[in-house]
Order: sequence, then structure tokens, then C-alpha cells
Amino acid sequence: MSNSLKHIPVAGPSITQKEIDYVTEAAATAWFDKANVFQQRFEAAMAARHRRAFATALPSCTAGLHLALEALGIGPGDEVIVPELTWIASSAPVAYVGATPVFADVDRDSWCLDAAALERAITPRTKAAIVVDLYGNMPDWAALESVALKHNIALIEDSAEAIGSMFRDRPAGAFGAASVFSFHGSKTLTTGEGGMLLTDDEALYRRCLMMRDHGRAPGDIMFFNDEVGFKYRMSAMQAALGVAQLERLDELVTRKRTIFGWYRDRLSDEEGFSLNQEASGVRNTYWMVTALIDAAFNVSKEALIPRLTAQGIGVRPFFYPLSAIPAYRGHPSSAGARERNPVAYDISWRGINLPSAYTMTPELVDRVCTALIAEIHALRTAA
Ligand SMILES: *Cc1c(COP(=O)(O)O)cnc(C)c1O
Repeated sequence: MSNSLKHIPVAGPSITQKEIDYVTEAAATAWFDKANVFQQRFEAAMAARHRRAFATALPSCTAGLHLALEALGIGPGDEVIVPELTWIASSAPVAYVGATPVFADVDRDSWCLDAAALERAITPRTKAAIVVDLYGNMPDWAALESVALKHNIALIEDSAEAIGSMFRDRPAGAFGAASVFSFHGSKTLTTGEGGMLLTDDEALYRRCLMMRDHGRAPGDIMFFNDEVGFKYRMSAMQAALGVAQLERLDELVTRKRTIFGWYRDRLSDEEGFSLNQEASGVRNTYWMVTALIDAAFNVSKEALIPRLTAQGIGVRPFFYPLSAIPAYRGHPSSAGARERNPVAYDISWRGINLPSAYTMTPELVDRVCTALIAEIHALRTAA
């Protein structure tokens, strides 16, 4: 394969000697009485960075959402509002606790949960909403918080894609009764697999600590568990990787914003696209650079993706509306969702994530954009 056709990954980490050194140290030393040292360092640094009182390192963000819902006392008969456009990990934990997800529409510019749509979706059974900072962007948190306050529902912030982002003077991860991060290998900050829950609510924190350790509170009698819980812990090696990555967070976020800038500059004179938006007062960390093709071009993501993949360009479809995927076929909240959530349905079919890994260079961005423009025009005239 010639060099120019080398595969361009859609996402991937930035690992330096620092990460290798910390993980090596953990593998060599983090045992016996030191088994939790790196987790505690990672938790303390994450809590401080996000101005939260408590943090718990977990094996995934999905586990964090599960624990948050459980600790909020959400269960059968309750409804939890979730934006239509997100990864299924945002909504799946609602089923783990026996509650019902209700899909609500997104804002046309931020692609995140819309406050008016949230309010319309609230019923007497609504207990909470999971708000997602999609692709590193931030919704209008002020408006969402005032709706939640008015209707007395809890918010959970799914900031899996948005570490380092800001809404006004508050960082992603500082919102809601609890917030959760993902450190999956594709994310801005990675531990391979991993997650963290942050909160200011001590009772919620203590409940999470107990339920993530098979229903045994820290320090309680061994093998004498109070409840049937879950097993959600992070290893020291993962935490060591996280500590190193967190020390580099500003550099990582700057890099993500630089990559986005290369795309924005390269595509600025091209018609037919828009990219991720950044409202005033928001800092978007552009986890995934995402192109939305103008509806008038009538070019779908599903037509475009195989043509780019064939050229070694790693792209992904914009999330499908959750109400449209097989997992939620026949689900009560999927009925009539296309009419109820028109913005999500309008955006999803014509959006694609472009290569956003730390390995991107201006030359690779140029190769991606040249191919993208050519294929869009080919499909447009073919139609
Ligand atoms: C990645 C992601 C998750 C899940 O994270 P895991 O660590 O894989 O459980 C949840 N929500 C969103 C929005 C994500 O992008």
C-alpha cells in the first residue's frame, strides 16, 4: 500500500513517555498497602480540576451512569429523559435500573439536549434527565438547569466526550447531581477503558461507593455485605495512565482544538457544509470533528461513508436517533419520535464524524477534506 493510502484512524490516543513511566510504576509498586494510591491520586485531581467535592474511579462511564441512577433512587415506573442523538451508553443504564428512557429532541446548533424539548418531555413520572455534552460541545446548561429546578427533576451530566470543555465559567463535569466521564481509548483523555463519577452530594457519593463494591461500604465487615450491588472498580494501572493524561489535559485539549482549526480553515471556502459549532461563552473541545452536509445536497452519511472508508479514511456516522435503532424498536418512547424530535432526525442522516485522532496533521486533514468534497459532489450529481 502506498504511503498516501495509509489508513487514517477516526480516533486514537496521545501517549508519551510520561504515561509509560506512570503505568510502569503502578505495575511495579501498586500492590498490597499501595493498591489504591493511583486511583486516589486520579480521583483527587479530577475532583479538584472539575471543582467537585467527590470523585470515584470506575471501569467505565456506563458504570457511572448506572450508579448515578441507582443512587438517585430511580427504578421501575420512573422515566428518565435522554437526548435522541447520543451513544446508546447514555440510555442503556436507564434499563439496568428498570426505568424507562424518554427520547427528547436536540438543539440545532449545539446538537445537545434542547431545554424546551426537555420541558415538553417531562411527565409526572419523570425523575431525571441525562444531559450529554455531545462531541465535546456544551448545551445551554443555564436553561436546562432552570427547567430541572422548576420541575424538580435531577440532572446527570454525561460528559464522556467533553473533558476540558466549558460552559461560561464552569467546566464540563461540574453540572448536575452527578457527572460522568469516559476514558475509553477513543476519548480525549484515555485509560484504555475507564470512567469516573463526580458529585458534590456526599450521600450520593457514599451510596455509589457501597453499590460499586458489591453492597459493602468501605471499612464494613468483610464478606458481610448489606445489599446485592455491583462490581465497578478501576485498576491501579488504568488510574496511573489517567493521572499522566490528566497532567497533560491542557495540551490534549489544545491539540483537539488545533485539529478542528485545520478542518475549519480547509473547508472555509467550500459550500455545502457546516462543522461543530461553538456558542459564545462555550469552549468546545471537539472530541470528534463532525461535518453536517447541507440538506439541499441530498447526500446521506450512509452513501458517503463506504466511499471514504474505501480510501482508507476512518469516518463514523453521526449517531442515529436512539428511537430509530433496532435496540429501541417498539419501545414506547420510539412511537411518533420522528415527528416529536424533528431536529435530531434532520441532523442525523447527513452528519459524519471525520478523523480526529491525535495523529492528524494538516496534510492528513487536507487528504480527508479533498476526498470528502469530491465524494459529496460525485453523489450530488449522481442523485
Ligand atoms: C463513550 C461514551 C459513553 C460510554 O463510555 P464507556 O466508558 O465506554 O462506558 C457514554 N456516553 C457517551 C456520550 C459516550 O460518548
